[in-house]
Amino acid sequence: MLHLPIYLDNNATTPVDPRVLESMLPFFTKYFGNAASHSHTFGWEAEAAVKYAREQVALLINAEPNEIIFTSGATESDNLALKGIFEMYAAKGNHIITVSTEHKAVLDSCAHIEKLGADVTYLNVNKDGIIDLKELESAIKPTTILLAVMYANNETGVIQPVKEIGMIAKKHSVLFFSDATQAVGKIPVDVIQDNIDLMAFSAHKIYGPKGAGALYIRRKNPRVRITAQIDGGGHERNFRSGTLNVPGIVGFGKACELCKIEMQKDGDNMKILRNKLESALSETKKSTINGSTKHRLPNVSNMSFKNRNSAELMGKLSNTIALSSGSACTSATLSPSFVLKAMGLSDEEALSSLRFGLGRFTTEEEIDYTIGQLTEFLAD
Ligand SMILES: *Cc1c(COP(=O)(O)O)cnc(C)c1O
Repeated sequence: MLHLPIYLDNNATTPVDPRVLESMLPFFTKYFGNAASHSHTFGWEAEAAVKYAREQVALLINAEPNEIIFTSGATESDNLALKGIFEMYAAKGNHIITVSTEHKAVLDSCAHIEKLGADVTYLNVNKDGIIDLKELESAIKPTTILLAVMYANNETGVIQPVKEIGMIAKKHSVLFFSDATQAVGKIPVDVIQDNIDLMAFSAHKIYGPKGAGALYIRRKNPRVRITAQIDGGGHERNFRSGTLNVPGIVGFGKACELCKIEMQKDGDNMKILRNKLESALSETKKSTINGSTKHRLPNVSNMSFKNRNSAELMGKLSNTIALSSGSACTSATLSPSFVLKAMGLSDEEALSSLRFGLGRFTTEEEIDYTIGQLTEFLAD
């Protein structure tokens, strides 16, 4: 049975997996303790649950549990990494290299520290959405402390050459931070193999709850240090104070465990459906895929439609198919996507694009319905 409306905006957020919800529920009521209460069983139970979740999260990205700092989400993790590194390594230098197509949480954090004296280089991307490694390497100077490059883009799903970026960082003894919010849980992410020193990700993009995320901070080769951005009781090894969101963290751990087991199968399914959508729409001769089709997440498609306006298309579809024209944070405005413009699209092309974000629960029926609706709107 086809249920309307259809949700194809899984890059903005995902539904909580019922198995995740089930794991969380006891921690609202029965096991409600504060994980920092060391004098009674309520606290011990909460602490044990957080410890277990930290292991589940670490396992998904091949980190050690004590390299995981729990935060409220990837926005906070991005802020913590950029501001924390800028402050901690001030004696070494003030130069940070990032990319023009990063998430706003990275770009706005960079703008914030620029006002405090940071020197930030914004690299461009090619038409596929990918940076030039030679350009990256030649931008490094003696004052460079950090490379900040996202793993996969939230609007296009395009994957950057993360491993190579990490190797360049190592060669020049600068740190490498990656916002991997869209990649973790969708494709294998391994902080050791990928040479990542700090990494942000979030529960609600991987069928976990909103309000829980993490920053991975490498503890050896090299040992990375940052200054805290929230001071208080010294939680999370002094990197992030505040009473832990125990139910959220438990759900985050469960979500990571499920991704570890099911990501390959889910990815294969979503890729088949995504490719079916793209090839069916290409028959209208009005669609163009934006970004690399080779280096791309299995669940995302960003397409432009000839002589069509995405706001108008979304308007026609709004009761039946939930879509986005770019990042949710900017979709309230009618300005063309800065990510697509950075890839060389004209204003008109960028304003004619839609992002299809498939998820674990997307069905073939839903994709067939979407194909039918769009083909109809693109016909005349
Ligand atoms: C969603 C997203 C964020 C923000 O994550 P929150 O957990 O919602 O704060 C940051 N970066 C990328 C790439 C994202 O997709």
